[in-house]
Amino acid sequence: TAVVALKDVSLSYNSNKDDNALEHIDLTLTEGEFVCLLGPSGCGKSTLLKIIAGFISPTAGTAVMDGEPINGADWHRGVVFQQPPLYPWLNVMENVMFGLKMRNIPVHESRRLAEEYIDKVGLREFRHCKPYELSGGMKQRVAIARSLVNKPRVLLMDEPFGALDALTREQMQILVRNIWWDSKCTILFITHDVDEALSLGTRVIVMSKRPGRILRELKTEFTYKI
Ligand code: ADP
Ligand code: ADP
Repeated sequence: TAVVALKDVSLSYNSNKDDNALEHIDLTLTEGEFVCLLGPSGCGKSTLLKIIAGFISPTAGTAVMDGEPINGADWHRGVVFQQPPLYPWLNVMENVMFGLKMRNIPVHESRRLAEEYIDKVGLREFRHCKPYELSGGMKQRVAIARSLVNKPRVLLMDEPFGALDALTREQMQILVRNIWWDSKCTILFITHDVDEALSLGTRVIVMSKRPGRILRELKTEFTYKI
């Protein structure tokens, strides 16, 4: 079943209709897919992700999730950026619990959930650390836990490992694949890295340079091994 559907979406950041960042995007994310989005810098990958996240609205066309128009951010859609926006004055537990607090989840329940997801990303021993005490990869693990703790239907990742060294990136790829396998959530994953897209995605979408259009799609011969 379709979780997210974009139909003939175009987006212009200014009023000039001939200056689109995205043009005529048709894209459906099916339940449980891991879709990788590839394309040159500036082609509109982040813009596309922000439309699905609900941060910006298309200039033309429609964006729906579960049949409802996407309108504003929503915890059913988790977002992970290249730079994890953690609160520096909160420790790992508090960072992961923050969104649950905003949703008025009782403290004992959010503590239980936070611990569960901090375990899943392998940070049990670091749960009382502040972000400045953590490496880049660990901070990204916190950001992933903070999204997952809401049990989102869709996880939107914008070059999540782009700032990490090669070894850490490999570990993070294994983590995200295991999480996907485990949680069965639908993932849209932006990357510059063709190998990363081919090794993680069940489907790879390639965009053209600005104005971004979908050039081609390929299904990978994805077999789960690890
Ligand atoms: P990508 O993620 O593929 O690098 P983006 O979606 O970030 O591409 O950007 C697509 C195009 O839109 C780029 O040319 C970029 O400069 C432009 N752009 C992105 N955000 C804004 C903005 N807030 N205002 C104006 N132009 C923007
Ligand atoms: P990415 O490729 O991950 O989108 P960028 O460095 O292109 O990273 O963009 C960083 C931020 O700046 C994004 O939020 C994007 O929307 C914004 N941005 C990019 N280009 C422009 C622009 N021309 N005008 C205003 N904001 C922009």
